[in-house]
Amino acid sequence: MDLHEYQAKEIFRDHGMPVPPGTVVTDASEAAAAARDFGGMVVVKAQVHSGGRGKAGGVKLAKTPEEAEAYAEAILGMEINGLTVEKVLITPAEDIASEAYVGVLVDRVTQAPMFMVSSEGGIDIEEVAHSQPEAIRRLSVDPRYGLLPHQAFWLANSLYDDPAQIKQAAKIMGQLYRSFVDAGASMAEINPLIVTPSGEVKAIDAKVSIDDNELFRKPAIEAYRDSAAEPQAETDAREAGLTFIKLDGNVGCCVNGAGLAMATMDLVKFYGGEPANFLDIGGSSNPEKVVNALRIITADPAVKVILFNIFGGITRTDDVANGIVEATRQIDIEVPIVIRLTGTNEEKALEILEGAGFSAYTSMDAVVERAVELATQG
Ligand code: GDP
Ligand code: MN
Repeated sequence: MDLHEYQAKEIFRDHGMPVPPGTVVTDASEAAAAARDFGGMVVVKAQVHSGGRGKAGGVKLAKTPEEAEAYAEAILGMEINGLTVEKVLITPAEDIASEAYVGVLVDRVTQAPMFMVSSEGGIDIEEVAHSQPEAIRRLSVDPRYGLLPHQAFWLANSLYDDPAQIKQAAKIMGQLYRSFVDAGASMAEINPLIVTPSGEVKAIDAKVSIDDNELFRKPAIEAYRDSAAEPQAETDAREAGLTFIKLDGNVGCCVNGAGLAMATMDLVKFYGGEPANFLDIGGSSNPEKVVNALRIITADPAVKVILFNIFGGITRTDDVANGIVEATRQIDIEVPIVIRLTGTNEEKALEILEGAGFSAYTSMDAVVERAVELATQG
């Protein structure tokens, strides 16, 4: 689950981090009032679950309350990477002498939190990571001990020369690490971490993603969920008890079991295709789950083919077959459906499918190859 900037900043502030204050508004007139309260210049910032807001025109510096209102008017309702802006954050504008990047995420290779910091912060950090990877200092943290003071200083030391700034930054690293752990985050990022002309180090942007598996034990974090700001498909999937992640390809995948779903996506890539989604319909899949899954997949206009890969263990393949047949009655599906299913009750499943004019594969390779072929043709 992604948090909004203002929510991430709340967590950072609770951990003592120097973060400028802010007011969230949903209406342009409230933006003017908030700007007046702060006095002086403010920044109007789109609150959407997307990076690159600055480049998309979702971050604007306003000199007067009237200007803040006009920017809020323009930004509210704006689309940034397919997400509509429903809220803006009004925050006092800071004078910036330098911008750095500080992030911590769960690293798969070391299976531990990994810090990444760079003095080349700001809106082009992805470009920096790509073109000058040596400009990023990395540190793996042993979660048993947390971020140790000398490690925090080692990181801060690569950002600044001034001892007072290094000291402030080291403290912020510790606060970021505590925020990351306490929130159950998979990623927590400050970009930019700024130094003001008077030498104060502050976090003026915040990005936090929560590991969904932490949410059940962190109700205060779950309460940050803003369904209106999440992709519709993900909200629908969560409500239907499906694990779904939208991707950029055109092969819609409907699979039982997370491992098989990953293997299926790998195979789609192997045969030259691109998956449109990750979808795990779960262990005991009743026909209704399949109908919901197909509704979600077909709502994506990019999908050119739907690929079922079902291995029947606890999942009864006849349930899945019934779900597919039922779904084609309820939903107007315009793209081809290819099915591989094997395991529990497969004879029954094949009978059901054949009765409805479908045929099914038993080989995973064959079905994926066919799906990719159909996706490229269509
Ligand atoms: P992002 O584009 O979504 O990462 O949004 P940011 O909050 O990081 O803002 C993008 C850029 O806008 C920053 O890197 C700064 O250069 C600039 N910016 C943001 N807030 C302020 C501010 O308070 N004062 C000034 N002068 N620039 C700001
Ligand atoms: Mn940023």
